[in-house]
Amino acid sequence: MIRQYDLVTQIKGYNEKTDVALINRAYVFSMKAHGNQRRASGEPYLVHPLEVASILADLKLDDATIAVALLHDTLEDTLASYDELKDLFGKEIADLTEGVTKLSRITFSETLAEQAENYRKLFLAMSQDIRVLLVKLADRLHNMRTLHHFKKEEKRRRIARETMDIFVPLADRIGLYNIKGELEELSFQILEPDDHARIDERLAEMKEQDNLIPRVVEALREELAAAGMKADVQGREKTPYSIWRKMRSKNLAFDQLTDIVAYRIIVEQKETCYQVLGLIHDIYKAIPGRFKDYISAPKLNGYQSLHTSVIGPFGNRMEVQIRTHDMHDIAENGVAAHWIYKHAVDGSEAMKGTQYKWLRQLMETLQQSDDPEEFLENAKLDLYREQVFVFSPKGDLMVLPAGATPLDFAYNIHTNIGNTCQSAKVNGRMAPLRTRLNNGDQVEIITSKNQRPNPGWREFVVSAKARAGINRYLRSQEKDEQVKLGKDILEKAARRESIRYSEKDLDKILEPYKCKDVEDVYAGLAQGRLFPKQIFEIIAPEAVEASRKALGDEVTNVQQAINKPSGPPGGKERRDVAVAIEGLTPGISIHMAKCCNPLPGEKIVGIINTGRGVTIHARGCKNLEAFADQPERFLSVRWSKESEETGENVYVARLRVALFHHPGALSAFTTAVFNAEGNIADLHIEGRSPDAFDIRCDIEVKNLEHFERMMGVIRSLKCVGTVERYNG
Ligand code: MN
Repeated sequence: MIRQYDLVTQIKGYNEKTDVALINRAYVFSMKAHGNQRRASGEPYLVHPLEVASILADLKLDDATIAVALLHDTLEDTLASYDELKDLFGKEIADLTEGVTKLSRITFSETLAEQAENYRKLFLAMSQDIRVLLVKLADRLHNMRTLHHFKKEEKRRRIARETMDIFVPLADRIGLYNIKGELEELSFQILEPDDHARIDERLAEMKEQDNLIPRVVEALREELAAAGMKADVQGREKTPYSIWRKMRSKNLAFDQLTDIVAYRIIVEQKETCYQVLGLIHDIYKAIPGRFKDYISAPKLNGYQSLHTSVIGPFGNRMEVQIRTHDMHDIAENGVAAHWIYKHAVDGSEAMKGTQYKWLRQLMETLQQSDDPEEFLENAKLDLYREQVFVFSPKGDLMVLPAGATPLDFAYNIHTNIGNTCQSAKVNGRMAPLRTRLNNGDQVEIITSKNQRPNPGWREFVVSAKARAGINRYLRSQEKDEQVKLGKDILEKAARRESIRYSEKDLDKILEPYKCKDVEDVYAGLAQGRLFPKQIFEIIAPEAVEASRKALGDEVTNVQQAINKPSGPPGGKERRDVAVAIEGLTPGISIHMAKCCNPLPGEKIVGIINTGRGVTIHARGCKNLEAFADQPERFLSVRWSKESEETGENVYVARLRVALFHHPGALSAFTTAVFNAEGNIADLHIEGRSPDAFDIRCDIEVKNLEHFERMMGVIRSLKCVGTVERYNG
């Protein structure tokens, strides 16, 4: 059992300047906090934090990390509080301890295997400081070492599974190969006890039988010495787990494996590695196809070595690994010893592809830095900034884009959950739907049958899924409204033209105007893609022809008379004009009066201005009164038929609109104008009342008919109180 004194001695071994008083205070605090608590083994609880601290001291870590190791279970398992730790040990140690505690609170779901990668990311994202992760890994290592004390096999298996799926890959990623290997071995023993026992037995047999390893090592040493090469030689059995995995992946029996024992020849220089390789191949028969040069092509995790398999001095097939001390350091400890190589071009280039190289670099900085400030700076993790990891109430892990809200969470489960999402609980508390979620949050969604998405939601969701869901719903809503409006437009127009039709007749429209269905026809009418006339031409051609004739033959038609300009009757005359305004001397310049902005289709009058041509006013314009005593300036004019019907020119109509203070009202208004093919030329907010804005808006339209259709669309908007033409 390790004692406090041993720990301090261990730390002093690599850090003379260690703050012994701090380590002692952390030890005493932890001892008091854990009191009489005991481990499953029956030992005092304190043994655990001491062992964890010792594992970290093996990695030569700083005082704060060692102190956190001693304190790591106090927040979770005792009455100690964050503030207490902060008062006694400072913010850094309190924060780190809290970080470890947060990691400890993560519970793993049943679907661990599928979600393992996300859990690993969650761990990295939540660690924030590499030291938090290191303490957690050391904690897990000691727990695995003492796992056999748990009586329930099921529990042991569950913990071993977690270790294999989460902690082994994490240790691998930060280059802690020794810890990784041990975690793997301990898990394997619990998960596959029979296979483990069988391999263990074979290894023991092999060792006893012929004492092969020391004999081979001795033979290799002699050969190297005879060639005048300075080298360390080691022989080490592979772990049962790595043997098992090789047997599985290559489908081999134990006896078929050549590399159960790895012999390592460790030299000073990289060049010497190749010389040693040449020597080995000279002396022993190489097994073809087994040579690998991981020096010029390192493995992704930074591993470098030469591997070859030969028939050894006693006729044994054996694998030989040749590497430098520095390469060996990486292979064994994963500590960033290889950063020595960053000056060497091949080394640094090869490392660029390594995803977690910065973590290893961090490890090195942690171990080498004397400057506490720089140390802290380097220890900060800023991983997975673009993602956030959260949990469902059942413990399922979900990955969302950073900045995600409960609404994003809801849409990620299912569109219907999103569409009916009424409120949310985050970590058990009611939270607004726009709350930004943090790593590790548990989110619960409360739905309501009566809830519907609203346009405001689009402003705070961040996931594509949520945005698409909301848009899809809102568009479908819009379509419903448009269908209603289009139906209305068509019915009114039909009444005006005395045309009867049934909905079935509209099927004839689908093909020529490329509409999906009758609803699409209505929507087209509402959006101004389609005009009633186009429809009547197909479903009631005789009626349209008749009304044309009626117009041409000047048959009185009350409806037509209202919509058409006055002026000298006569179809022929109407047709031979080429300019917009009829009744003027060709070449005379004309202006549209800004006061009334007359539109084609409206009754108009011309006023002669001396030297400035003619100004065209609407007949109802109030400004005309000013000319009442100058009848000679009045000109009888009318719009040409072309200008009424072709709509090639645009004219400005000025509106006064009362717009309610609804969210999205202005956008609904402008969208409606756009959909009716109008263009907003100018827009002023002229005043506001408690419930509405007064808006003056200039809209470009083609003619009076277009304008009136536009007015219909605007009037139908829920956000519009009143709308009227603004005349002067
Ligand atoms: Mn612990």
